[in-house]
Amino acid sequence: MHGGFDMNYDYLIVGAGLFGATFAHQMALTGKKCLVIDRRHHVGGNVYTEKTADIHVHKYGAHIFHTNNRAVWDFINQFTEFNHYINSPIANYKGEIYNLPFNMNTFNKMWGVVTPAQAQEIIEQQRAEITDGQPQNLEQQALCLVGRDIYEKLIKGYTEKQWGMSCSELPASIIKRLPVRFIYDNNYFSDRFQGIPIDGYTSIIGKMLAHCDVKLSTDYSELYSSFAPYTIYTGAIDEYYNYCYGELEYRSLRFETEIMDTSNYQGNAVVNYCEREIPYTRIIEHKHFAFGTQPLTVITREYPQPWEKGSEAYYPINNEKNNALYQRYQALAARNQKVIFAGRLGSYQYYDMDKTIANALCLASSLKN
Ligand code: FAD
Repeated sequence: MHGGFDMNYDYLIVGAGLFGATFAHQMALTGKKCLVIDRRHHVGGNVYTEKTADIHVHKYGAHIFHTNNRAVWDFINQFTEFNHYINSPIANYKGEIYNLPFNMNTFNKMWGVVTPAQAQEIIEQQRAEITDGQPQNLEQQALCLVGRDIYEKLIKGYTEKQWGMSCSELPASIIKRLPVRFIYDNNYFSDRFQGIPIDGYTSIIGKMLAHCDVKLSTDYSELYSSFAPYTIYTGAIDEYYNYCYGELEYRSLRFETEIMDTSNYQGNAVVNYCEREIPYTRIIEHKHFAFGTQPLTVITREYPQPWEKGSEAYYPINNEKNNALYQRYQALAARNQKVIFAGRLGSYQYYDMDKTIANALCLASSLKN
């Protein structure tokens, strides 16, 4: 025994987020002994939810579960029931309200058009402003997809706040898959399965980890003994290697959460604030994810931040420089047979929750054999 823990684990899993918990659950099913550690005081990683004023608050940003992957949907439904929430965010530009994603409701409000042909004609006229070849940056890409009015009001300010850079300096790839629909449909995700877990995300993770040992408020660097022959490391790969080649860059967020003495603050779970002058990008009103009827409400303002070593890393900046740096770390990792880097930080990739689960299921199944 070591610090109350058995030393004979099959796997040490660093990170009690969705990846670590999914992997640990699958391995425990096959009889493997897993120790899961996390430096935070709670399980769940970034999907962690906590009750405030009887409302499930998404502490690290709003998380809406959506997937087309039947196996992932069946897997997660073992641990929770989902409600029928459909994400339909709205955009506020200087007090004007528009539906997202860009669809016929947005175009009707913007230009008064009624039919898809009318909307397409306007976009075509505005698109004519940039002509030659491929869009070279995000601004040109946006102008191609939705024209100048929507770009100026609903994309430019929001995106520049989010990335801390001008749209003309950002790569077009960021909005390559921007949903634009010529139907009246405010459902942001076009996936087949969608919802919010009725008891919050933390309860799901707790159930996944029921058959493992869990040690919280424990950083991997504090472990002075090896607990297991194999480690699954879902922290940042550059941190593991002590930043020996330099730091991978991220975009961070600051959350400002407030209990409001009203039952309904903004009438929708997600409202984007698109003008540059307002420093936050979104306000989340958590109760609307769950059709809450509590007397009070809880809101969170999201302020994009530059990332500094030691602060929370949210969005990897997958530009050429960082991707090349990540590959150098990957080459180091390939020489280490005892540690597998995984999850969003270990892979230096943004993954939605369904992809995170799919990746963890895949790794677990490859190691079972
Ligand atoms: P994490 O959740 O980050 O877990 C990693 C864990 O490892 C953390 O708890 C961390 O504390 C721990 N750790 C790291 N280093 C160490 C160390 N050295 N020692 C000990 N512990 C360590 N996906 C969707 O499908 N829908 C959404 O609406 C959605 N919204 C999102 C909003 C935001 C703002 C962000 C950033 C992501 C969103 N996602 C969403 C993606 C979702 O958060 C991820 O898919 C998921 O959290 C990834 O899980 P993970 O286990 O890989 O990483």
